[in-house]
Amino acid sequence: MLVMKFGGSSVADRTQIDKVRAIVKGRAARRPVVVSSAHKGVTNALIAAGKAAAAGKDDAGADVIAKQSGIARDLGCSDALLAPLFAELRDLLRGVRLVKELSPRSLDYITSFGERMAVRVIADYFTRTGLPARAYDVWDLGFVTDSNFGQARPLEGYETRMNDAFARLVPADVVPIVTGFVGQNAAGEITTVGRNGSDLTATLVAAAINAAEAEIWSDTDGVMSADPHLVAGARNIPTMSFAEAAELAYFGSRVLHPETLLPAMAKDIPVRVLNTNRPEHPGTVILREPAARDLVVTSIAYKENQSILTVRSPRMFAQSGFLSELFAITTRHNLVIDMVTTSEISVSLSCADVETLARVHVEAQKLGECRLDHGRTILAVVGQNLPTRSGLGALILQALALVDVNVELVSFSAGSINFSMVIADADVDRAVPALHAALFEQAQA
Ligand code: ASP
Ligand code: MG
Repeated sequence: MLVMKFGGSSVADRTQIDKVRAIVKGRAARRPVVVSSAHKGVTNALIAAGKAAAAGKDDAGADVIAKQSGIARDLGCSDALLAPLFAELRDLLRGVRLVKELSPRSLDYITSFGERMAVRVIADYFTRTGLPARAYDVWDLGFVTDSNFGQARPLEGYETRMNDAFARLVPADVVPIVTGFVGQNAAGEITTVGRNGSDLTATLVAAAINAAEAEIWSDTDGVMSADPHLVAGARNIPTMSFAEAAELAYFGSRVLHPETLLPAMAKDIPVRVLNTNRPEHPGTVILREPAARDLVVTSIAYKENQSILTVRSPRMFAQSGFLSELFAITTRHNLVIDMVTTSEISVSLSCADVETLARVHVEAQKLGECRLDHGRTILAVVGQNLPTRSGLGALILQALALVDVNVELVSFSAGSINFSMVIADADVDRAVPALHAALFEQAQA
């Protein structure tokens, strides 16, 4: 089987859904399982409706229902198809307006409607146009999660349940159209895996059913050497390793949800990143061991809005245990750290979660003098065997120096596939094109 995930822009409207239909039809012999996002903009509209309802607005779902009805009508679906979901959504929003609060649990329930509505209209349209399909809420196929609303993950053993459910519920001659993003806990309450999480649903499903491959269809030609919005000359990367792709996804390449590669890596399932608007483009294939490439550097990624905590203490000098005291504090607060640098008397760590970092900051003061810096970006150069390339660090730092970008922290270690730096958010627009020019357009051209 082949899992094919289509993002919001791929299923935005009838024109896009026709492209999806042609792509899926072309792969019918490989038993495609389609995982779909909500239509573009619908998840945001649902969140806005939830907030408006909590603020007391009447009929808060009207806009999103109108938008979804318009798409359903364009696809020729009968009004009866979505009527039960519209009624449920209206009731839910009325409830939120009455209690005037929007818990993570209610927000997951509200946002789940995007994917649930989308799969129904897509399956209905495909079937009426000669591609027999059936819509599934992923929980009906055994995707049971924990109760971590807004960031739920499947419970251990979900793979077996999914395998059984597929065998029982999915006939071989229909294309299943399955909701991305959502899930259900053991008590039957709706959860979500987090924003942009349909990619992750796709690889989790692929891992469960031992799919031959997972395809992630969006609107760029695979993974690019840098953000095409910032760098006109950004180019496609034909192949990369799971580790590189995971690093890039984590460090802000916007094509894949950061955790997408983990389930695929565990089961060694190749992931292909493809463009719905240019299906003939080969995109990027992500494998355990990609074929050798000429390019050492794969891509440049960045993650803005980071904060840096620096702890300075003479106590650190020639002492053991200091770092473990600091990390005991971060662990107690569940702080996710992206980057760490140390010197003899100071340690800096970066993270995106300002509120938790503020709590860590208060406690870390007992270890030494602390400072917090906000508005920083992690800028990462990702590639294979970077430390074996003499002169690479100089090339990177010089390119940044030439456009007057100050590098505040650097992290680069043995065996590393990542040369990461911290710069100011305001410098990203200069730094990324300059680095791209130095690493792709001049050095390796
Ligand atoms: N529809 C969800 C979102 O917008 C999930 C996804 O698109 O992957 O975040
Ligand atoms: Mg997406």
